[in-house]
Amino acid sequence: MESILKRYFGFSTFRPYQKEVIEKILEKRDCLVVMATGSGKSLCYQIPPLVVGKTGVVVSPLISLMQDQVMTLKQRGIRAEYLGSTQTDQTVQTKAEKGQFNILYMTPEKACLIPTSFWVEYKQLDKLRDILIDVPFIGLTATATEKVRADIIISVKMNDPYVSIGSFDRNNLFYGVKSFNRGSIFLDELVQEVSNFVARSGSTIIYCTTIKDVEQISRSLQEAGIRAGIYHGQMDKRAREESHRLFVRDELQVMVATVAFGMGIDKPNIRQVIHYGCPKSLESYYQESGRCGRDGIASVCWLYYTRSDFAKGDFYCGESQNAKQRRAVLESLMAAQRYCLLTTCRRKFLLEHFGEKLSADRCGNFLRGSRSKKILDAQFDKLPLHGLGKAYSSNWWKALAHQLISYGYLKEIVSDGYRTISVSPKGEGFLASAMPDCQPPLVLSVTSEMIDEEV
Ligand code: ADP
Repeated sequence: MESILKRYFGFSTFRPYQKEVIEKILEKRDCLVVMATGSGKSLCYQIPPLVVGKTGVVVSPLISLMQDQVMTLKQRGIRAEYLGSTQTDQTVQTKAEKGQFNILYMTPEKACLIPTSFWVEYKQLDKLRDILIDVPFIGLTATATEKVRADIIISVKMNDPYVSIGSFDRNNLFYGVKSFNRGSIFLDELVQEVSNFVARSGSTIIYCTTIKDVEQISRSLQEAGIRAGIYHGQMDKRAREESHRLFVRDELQVMVATVAFGMGIDKPNIRQVIHYGCPKSLESYYQESGRCGRDGIASVCWLYYTRSDFAKGDFYCGESQNAKQRRAVLESLMAAQRYCLLTTCRRKFLLEHFGEKLSADRCGNFLRGSRSKKILDAQFDKLPLHGLGKAYSSNWWKALAHQLISYGYLKEIVSDGYRTISVSPKGEGFLASAMPDCQPPLVLSVTSEMIDEEV
């Protein structure tokens, strides 16, 4: 196992759960793996076929993810192929039957459609189990509530599976929410913020709910001199692939996209994901926002919502849904809405949604206990007030800070090229009279950037 990991993938150690899962697969035990995006699930199914020298079949509805993986595996010298519905399929199928692949990818439809007349069942993965009795099955997912986990086990008829559930806590991600009003003033602000961010920190994805927004925002960014690309389902395949490629190679600084973008992108250094409009569920929000910071470095997830987003239930429901499905869609949207309006810890709320309790009561923000790199580098997490203000949202603190500046209790100055904020003489006078025992008043100087981003 270790030598294959090193030889084909260039890593010297397994992540703890990877080793356990691979060992269970090699013992022919079924496995269910529930791990956060970016935790390295792919190796769990890519390594066992290489160890035993038999073909591993990967079934996924995400065609672009499969095609990406096939490409990367081939580059590593692994015999991988995607079995779709193209002309080359006959050759792939013939080779597959001879066991010439290490890993063969296909959609559920392909996996279940056996081209002989006695097998008419379609899209029913549980049928696979009946004919592949001696083959271990592994189910992997990034986002699953307890119900979904149970459904996976039942739908592929897993037999006493080994279950490996990881933490969903992406502790290098900062979660922020802002409300906005559609209009040119807001768009200008957004462009300004994004251009400051990409100049300092790096790649950004902006997810929009409509193609119209994708086009408008990308145009505004481009006009401001930012290298922004677009990606949505109505572009032709070649244009989508080109856009994807440019982004992965850092030739684009920003990708403005609908949620059609992202499945299968393995770009570890995305530093920011902005949702322009409330997402349709917390499951999709967690997955989409989780595309930043895969390399473990501090990254930020901003969700911008307008109240009109909350009325989009019908838009997400579509026409063909029955009452039960409609209810599920609306409930998901309501959970996302609650997240937008939250005044307590967002990380805690997200984790609880996925059935996980945050061990500490505070997730760690500065006043709000942030554990971002800048805060940790400056050792602000060691200050006694770190986390004291977590009962209020970061928007609340920002508004307060701006008010205190405008009333002259805090002063903002530029020194060494940075805007910094500290307590003004007026503020010190107030503190001395309000808290005579507090001596000397705690005078803390922070950069305005910190107030703006991660109070
Ligand atoms: P997931 O499928 O869980 O979202 P991936 O399988 O795409 O995650 O892996 C995410 C990143 O982690 C990839 O860049 C991958 O190369 C890296 N990775 C996976 N396993 C290891 C490991 N054992 N050591 C170092 N990096 C790893």
